[in-house]
Amino acid sequence: MNRDTWSEVSLSNIRNNMLKIRQTLPKNVKLMAVVKANGYGHGDIEAALMAQQAGAEQLAVAYLDEALRLREHGITLPILILTPIKPRQLKLAIEHDLMLTVTSASWFREARCFKPVTPLRKLRVHVKLDTGLGRLGIYEKPQWDEMVPWLRAADVIVEGVYTHFATAGREDTSYLKQQYMRFVDMIEWVKESRLAVNSYHCAGSAAALRFPELAMDMVRIGAAMYGYYPQKLVPTIKLEPALSLHSTLMQVKKLKKGEYLGYDNSYQADEEQWVGTVPIGYADGWSQSMQGTELLVNGQRAKVIGKICMDQLMIRLPGPCKEGSAVTLIGCQGAESITFAELAAHIGSVPQEISTSLTARVTRIYTDKGEARKRWDKRLIVSSSKGAIL
Ligand SMILES: *Cc1c(COP(=O)(O)O)cnc(C)c1O
Repeated sequence: MNRDTWSEVSLSNIRNNMLKIRQTLPKNVKLMAVVKANGYGHGDIEAALMAQQAGAEQLAVAYLDEALRLREHGITLPILILTPIKPRQLKLAIEHDLMLTVTSASWFREARCFKPVTPLRKLRVHVKLDTGLGRLGIYEKPQWDEMVPWLRAADVIVEGVYTHFATAGREDTSYLKQQYMRFVDMIEWVKESRLAVNSYHCAGSAAALRFPELAMDMVRIGAAMYGYYPQKLVPTIKLEPALSLHSTLMQVKKLKKGEYLGYDNSYQADEEQWVGTVPIGYADGWSQSMQGTELLVNGQRAKVIGKICMDQLMIRLPGPCKEGSAVTLIGCQGAESITFAELAAHIGSVPQEISTSLTARVTRIYTDKGEARKRWDKRLIVSSSKGAIL
């Protein structure tokens, strides 16, 4: 890595967060670690292995390619793909023992043509029910009834029936309760059809932490594993963010009163002032909407001024600073810290939008648990020398 901008990921924070989450849940509730979108930007393989070390029983990703990548790297835990795959991708999914999300009888009808002639194993599916998010899943009884014969087939295992909440992070819990009650009602359809189902699950991070009693058989933990959770609503637990973001002061200059800075003259000095340039921009995932946020230099806050460029941004400095000084965009310097929550509030989004936006140009450095990293490298060597998945 030759760049002066990088991100640090604490693997032990990921593991400790998972261990803490486990402790808050009733016994026998399984943990599904969600490592979609490159582990929310933290590294999918690393996140998956840490989750496994912390005792997660299953993994989830959004898309087939993400699951295949985990398998290629020797991850053997059960993996659920949260978005339905195309029927013609069925063979690939069965070969790699992936669990599929299914939402319609027509999918099964089409998939029939793509089933391997002598399949290696049964097809493992989770049926997705839409209880009010309005994104994916069946929402009416006839849709369920139409699916039942397909689910009953001898070569299909119904590993799960699940739904996803729309407002689990909101203080007002009325819609969450409504969705939960709808899920309970829909589970009656399943019971009536006397179909064997291995697990029911509905809670993501916020719901699992706030209402462990809604956990059912399994919880799907993404955000909280990386340290993102509605802190005010769950004061009983303390999770740590795993990711921090750093750079270096590249240039320092004095701006005279009235002088401009940034594209489109987006900033004008109203008095003489010190400004600095930091080598991170929107091509690193630090979007122009971050204009006006603060970062840390020499343990002090400095505001991002002018439009954020593709490769750099400019800041107003508290005074003259040494070029080469450490800059922290997310994380601590001394007593000061810039939190995900603060940045997310500024852009009107959630922490995971910030971490998933960081592009490949920002190298992830895995800190503290060099130990975990070593274990990972060893696993890779073992798996490649055997030429097979461990
Ligand atoms: C992403 C996702 C999750 C994880 O949600 P978090 O709030 O990040 O824990 C769980 N379930 C589904 C269906 C998802 O798409």
